[in-house]
Amino acid sequence: MTGRFNQDQPLTDPDSFLPKLVSSVSDVLCTYWLSADGESHRYLFINEQVKGILGIDTDVLRESADAMFLALHPEDVVDVNTSVEASALALTPWRHQARLRVAAGHYEWFEAHGIPERQADGSTVWYSQFHNIQQYKNLEYSLRESETESAFQADFQKLIARLSTEFINRKFNTISAFTSELLNTIGDFFKVDRAYLYEFSPDYRIMDNTHEWCSDGVPSLIDSQHDVRVDEFEWWQSQIDEMVSDNRVVFVEDIGQLPAGPERILLEQQGVCSMFCVPVRVRGLVAGFFGVDSLRKRIWRKDQADLLAIVSGLLSGALERHRLESELLNQSIRDPLTGLHNRRYLMPRLDEMLSRSSRYNEQCTLAMFDLDRFKHINDSIGHLGGDFFLRTFANILVEQTREADVVARFGGEEFIVAFGDVSREGVRNIVSRIIRSVRDCDFGFEGHTLPLTVSAGIASIEDLNDIPASPDPLIRLADSRLYRAKQSGRDCLVDASGISRV
Ligand code: GH3
Ligand code: MG
Ligand code: MG
Repeated sequence: MTGRFNQDQPLTDPDSFLPKLVSSVSDVLCTYWLSADGESHRYLFINEQVKGILGIDTDVLRESADAMFLALHPEDVVDVNTSVEASALALTPWRHQARLRVAAGHYEWFEAHGIPERQADGSTVWYSQFHNIQQYKNLEYSLRESETESAFQADFQKLIARLSTEFINRKFNTISAFTSELLNTIGDFFKVDRAYLYEFSPDYRIMDNTHEWCSDGVPSLIDSQHDVRVDEFEWWQSQIDEMVSDNRVVFVEDIGQLPAGPERILLEQQGVCSMFCVPVRVRGLVAGFFGVDSLRKRIWRKDQADLLAIVSGLLSGALERHRLESELLNQSIRDPLTGLHNRRYLMPRLDEMLSRSSRYNEQCTLAMFDLDRFKHINDSIGHLGGDFFLRTFANILVEQTREADVVARFGGEEFIVAFGDVSREGVRNIVSRIIRSVRDCDFGFEGHTLPLTVSAGIASIEDLNDIPASPDPLIRLADSRLYRAKQSGRDCLVDASGISRV
């Protein structure tokens, strides 16, 4: 500092220190003049700092304030004008925040203050100051961003907690519905257009779209996505390999960047813009994948993969439980020796078939089989040999009937086949064929071949006459006819028309 305190020029004399003060502050200080008609305006005084900050010459601004208003961000122009007008009208202090283009060419936030003073000619002068508040704005933005972010994280945690509880409380056999709801909830939450689950075949050659959710107006693809052969899509095949071996996530931000190939053509046809797929594991092995599609360009969160991996964890649980339930269900409705359905499955199905038949006036026929002199078989080749014969007979039944017929082991060496919508004649033919097949089959076990025959009793819904159609009377009728077949020498069938030796 070269200036020295001088008794002759006391610091209380503004003329001596004001210019120094004005040139030493970092803000812009000015007196802004606006004509009474509001048509012209200029800066009566503006300090040199404006040149450094906004790159505008003070001379220019003393001529007209237009250059300052041209430096305003287009979105802020209207507000600034309105606030200046209001301050002029009511002579209230002016205070405003707006973006100005700085010397470097970009916009930064400033805050301005001004005290208005009306002049004799009706014009107004503001004694003003404005300073850069970009740092505060940055802080405000990042605070708001982190608030939004924590709200998002909290919502996501809540969502996952809710879905987990719901999953645990799910009743038997409702896991598929849960999976659909989960895709819906997650699709909505992440604002994607489609969310889906695919399952792989055990050899990873085939994938099957088992569940899908689409946002409003987005076409469903699930019908075209069953039993898709993976080897037809080379790029996708390599992605699956990585999913399976390294648990990798597949993220395609822009489908246009995919190598040219069938998968890109397909995805483009489907209107997919970007996609995200996460492997779903069951008992440690990748069993499928969960994915989301976006049909428009979007910014994906950096932690998207982590969030979707949490969702995929829930889906893993769902898939595992679904498999477990299917196994259990299967075990409870199948006979373990022959693999045929058991009585527990047969009875409600028969009930269903009979109501359907009554309603549509269709045929429903039941054939009851009992292997002839089976005790003798067991006595000759042992119980294990008898078991083997039972399995062979079960195979004959399956081979000789249609998918739609219910084939069940009713107990011991008794079997029932329920035929829906087949004529009596048709059933008699099928049963005859079965009887012949058994007679002609070489039943052998550990070197012993034994002849085996079977007898059958057949009863149709129309044989019940006035008795209301239900499983019990129909089975009783078939059983009594089977008894007649046994009485008549076995290896034959009895139906409404009597004994048929075939
Ligand atoms: P019929 O011609 O009158 O039917 O004579 P049958 O010897 O077959 O007489 P019955 O129907 O009374 O006997 C059925 C036999 O089937 C008795 C039982 O030992 C045998 N059996 C029942 N269930 C099984 C099984 O799971 N495995 C084996 N190996 N034998 C069974
Ligand atoms: Mg029997
Ligand atoms: Mg028997």
